[in-house]
Amino acid sequence: MVQGTIVKVSGPLVIAEGMREANMFDVVRVSEHRLIGEIIEMHGDRASIQVYEETAGLGPGEPVYSTGAPLSVELGPGMIGKIYDGIQRPLEKIREMVGSNITRGIDVASIDRNKKWMFKPAVEKGARVVSGDIIGTVQETVIVEHRIMVPYGVEGTVEEVFEGEFTIEDTVARVKKDNGEIVDLKMLQKWPVRVGRPYKEKLPPESPMITGQRVIDTLFPLAKGGVAAVPGPFGSGKTVVQHQLAKWADADIVVYIGCGERGNEMTDVLMEFPELKDPRTGESIMMRTVLIANTSDMPVAAREASIYTGITIAEYFRDMGYNVALMADSTSRWAEALREMSGRLEEMPGEEGYPAYLGSRIAQFYERAGRVISLGTNGREGSISAIGAVSPPGGDLSEPVTQATLRIVKVFWGLDASLAYRRHFPAINWLLSYSLYSDMLDEWMNRNIARDWSVLKADAMRLLQEEAELEEIVRLVGVDALSPADRLTLEAAKSIREDYLHQNAFHDVDTYTSMHKQYRMLKLIMNYYYKGKKAIETGADIKELFALPVRERIGRAKYTREDQVDAVFDDIELELNQQMDALRSKEVV
Ligand code: ADP
Repeated sequence: MVQGTIVKVSGPLVIAEGMREANMFDVVRVSEHRLIGEIIEMHGDRASIQVYEETAGLGPGEPVYSTGAPLSVELGPGMIGKIYDGIQRPLEKIREMVGSNITRGIDVASIDRNKKWMFKPAVEKGARVVSGDIIGTVQETVIVEHRIMVPYGVEGTVEEVFEGEFTIEDTVARVKKDNGEIVDLKMLQKWPVRVGRPYKEKLPPESPMITGQRVIDTLFPLAKGGVAAVPGPFGSGKTVVQHQLAKWADADIVVYIGCGERGNEMTDVLMEFPELKDPRTGESIMMRTVLIANTSDMPVAAREASIYTGITIAEYFRDMGYNVALMADSTSRWAEALREMSGRLEEMPGEEGYPAYLGSRIAQFYERAGRVISLGTNGREGSISAIGAVSPPGGDLSEPVTQATLRIVKVFWGLDASLAYRRHFPAINWLLSYSLYSDMLDEWMNRNIARDWSVLKADAMRLLQEEAELEEIVRLVGVDALSPADRLTLEAAKSIREDYLHQNAFHDVDTYTSMHKQYRMLKLIMNYYYKGKKAIETGADIKELFALPVRERIGRAKYTREDQVDAVFDDIELELNQQMDALRSKEVV
């Protein structure tokens, strides 16, 4: 049915009249091309519509049809391993149908309607169920068990439950509500993207999201259910950091949103991810990943939706009781989409032309992360950890998107152009970055990795800070003016930087370091420092200390394969002790 008529088209913004029947946030189809749009403002019968497809050629007088439903995602088995655009259209499917250019107004189901899944009931006839209860499971991929939950608003007694092969639209169970109404439950559910999925209770984070990236796990750790930002200028390594997290984070599910940072960046993801193996399962990481890609031929408005599409999918898996990691690269591109729409809506601009509500939109997004107890009789614990890249123009951290983000996130990995220029990767600046989860997670590490973890870490951090102060002095009076103890500090700090923090994402072994190996590496480097300090105190020569042959092995220790860590590190420690002893006994003579 025709509802309204276009009166104005301005890029992705279409103004239509005669829309009195429609609601704010309704999805509409614009013109005979049936372009997909969403009502983002209503004044009387005049609707402002954000259109997610190219509006070229559209003009006043053309019809607008309302669907009467808000922008929603489809949820059910069949999402894992898929690549979606910002409004959850499956890109591969579209390519099969129409080639590489998305035809406008195309209608494709987000999740395959024909595929049959083996559904195993988890409840029996006569059981009492409430929203969020798991009625059955489907083994979606080798590693992901898809848990089918009673949809929101349904509560009652199981009348019937079926076992066998079903499509997502088949009925898998029947629930009789208390008012006698029978509800057919299917595996397919829908959820409006702009509304966070409900849960029973939010809990503070308590355990780390291990990423295998040493500078992150050791110095600036992220908690499961935590929120982090990675700001950095162009070329400083934001995308590599995000990719590393997507590959290695110990999450059950990864949702990766590429907000059109560069055209080819998603191509990298698409080519590389299927090849990569999850270190815990040995399976391709696509077996646990949902990708959302804003292709370059989609207008900016779609980026705006992609963030919500991604987080809603993440919430759905969280509700099953999974730890989900969500990456958004880059949120700046999303904010630019907001700015463009705001400008076209002729709203009062705030700082640098961004709308005044920029900060609250960013906050709303990150607030959907966290560790929660789901709905359901026995609520499950699940989490979403959200990591947003920010690309401040010129690396200027005082710009509005970075500032608004830093007010919300608890972890800040500040990428540094000068480190990247010196090819120190990951270029996370250890003096500027922080993690507000550090204290809590240090205790976790002490309990679970090694009792002296937090001491080693604090000492390492102190050396790096002292190095920065000493460098000032060296600049003024030269390194020879320093005391042997200070020179050892510089030497040890250098070892922490080069042998520990520096990590090559493209090296087979170095790309991922387990917590145990991180501990052994840190301990080794710090032992060199502690023992070196003692040696100096007993009069050892600093030049000989710096020239110990074991230094070379310490430098290469990071390339030790995980299965050889203990043997190799025991051996290097032994050598370190012998050479230190030799150094000290020489002084005594
Ligand atoms: P950004 O997304 O910030 O523009 P990229 O993530 O594309 O920057 O990184 C730019 C380049 O820096 C990469 O192509 C790569 O050569 C190098 N690089 C970044 N991080 C690492 C790393 N951890 N190990 C090795 N090289 C890296």
